Amino acid sequence: MPLILDSLPVLYRELFPDFFRKEIPVETKATCSSCAMCQSSAQGAVESVDGVSRFFRPDTKCCTYYPKLPNYLVGALLADERAELGEGQRRVGEKISSRMGVSPQWVRPSARYNLLYRNSRQFFGKAASMRCPYYELEQGGCTIWPYREAVCSTFFCKYVAGADGRKFWMTLKTYLALSEIQLSRYAVLQLLPEYILAGKDKPDLSETPTVEDLDDKPLPDKEYAALWRQWAGREHEFYRASYDIIRALSPEAVEKILGLDGVIELKVLEKLHRDAVTPALPQVLKLNPEATVKWLPDGNVALGAYSEYDAVALPGLAYALIVEFTGREPVEAVRKRLREEKQADLHEDILLELYRHRILMEA
Ligand code: SF4
Ligand code: SF4
Repeated sequence: MPLILDSLPVLYRELFPDFFRKEIPVETKATCSSCAMCQSSAQGAVESVDGVSRFFRPDTKCCTYYPKLPNYLVGALLADERAELGEGQRRVGEKISSRMGVSPQWVRPSARYNLLYRNSRQFFGKAASMRCPYYELEQGGCTIWPYREAVCSTFFCKYVAGADGRKFWMTLKTYLALSEIQLSRYAVLQLLPEYILAGKDKPDLSETPTVEDLDDKPLPDKEYAALWRQWAGREHEFYRASYDIIRALSPEAVEKILGLDGVIELKVLEKLHRDAVTPALPQVLKLNPEATVKWLPDGNVALGAYSEYDAVALPGLAYALIVEFTGREPVEAVRKRLREEKQADLHEDILLELYRHRILMEA
């Protein structure tokens, strides 16, 4: 089994606590090279709901997202001499030259993109216009993969541990996002303290795009120069210096920089990791009243609950057994009754899978 660290940028190997050396199952259901959400490879999937296709485009997959890269990951990418990263470096370099969404702390999407993204979630995986600029069309892959950020490192459309797996990866995303914010601020504080002292690292809560944002115009020269000061025109050098500062930190220094929020997120992660790798079937189960039930033409039934992207297909006869779980008696009593009255049973492995999908839930 791989380690949690194996799914993260290699930089974190020397920075994160021992917990990240724990094993985590491979997310085999998210078959990215033959995308499980694309029509050509999504075997047995429900094709549409209310006439709207559930499939993702093969030329976007789930990369209808524009990452917000922290300065030190940009620096790490630019410093990497491997030939296969040349294209990613070129694309990020182009983005830096555009001066749009380029600051000492981040290389991020334009306010216009963010506005569209926040308001177009139903088109996730389906709109070519929202494709990530670092997505490579011919091979269908990511040009900056070793340096992808929190969201890209932790998103899967389906999880082998179902709802518990999703909770684990979502909380890992929160931990990584916190690390990105704090470590990028720390690097800027060393290299350009005026930026931090002027509060430019604080998120813009209004998130209202300006007219220039809507027209995808870069910051006017004067404002850009004021933002970057002595580093204007030397952005690549700045990002590489950020990387050097962060990779020189010790795990103890990182822990201090992440503060109490980091301690709490780590404790939550430890608990969720246990839930994801050692699931236990609750003693009393009931059918989740919010589970979606779709009868398929072949007589099977597709059941979903924890995620719109992950359904379980079962024979219709099995559904007639699942509805017997009403939360009024323990699992073993229900199974005994099914054996006696219907000469049928649901094996514990199937019940566990249904519980992981929260089609059956704890009563
Ligand atoms: S995680 Fe993305 S690329 Fe991978 S299988 Fe799922 S939708 Fe496809
Ligand atoms: S950075 Fe890579 S993984 Fe993330 S959205 Fe872009 S292409 Fe996909």
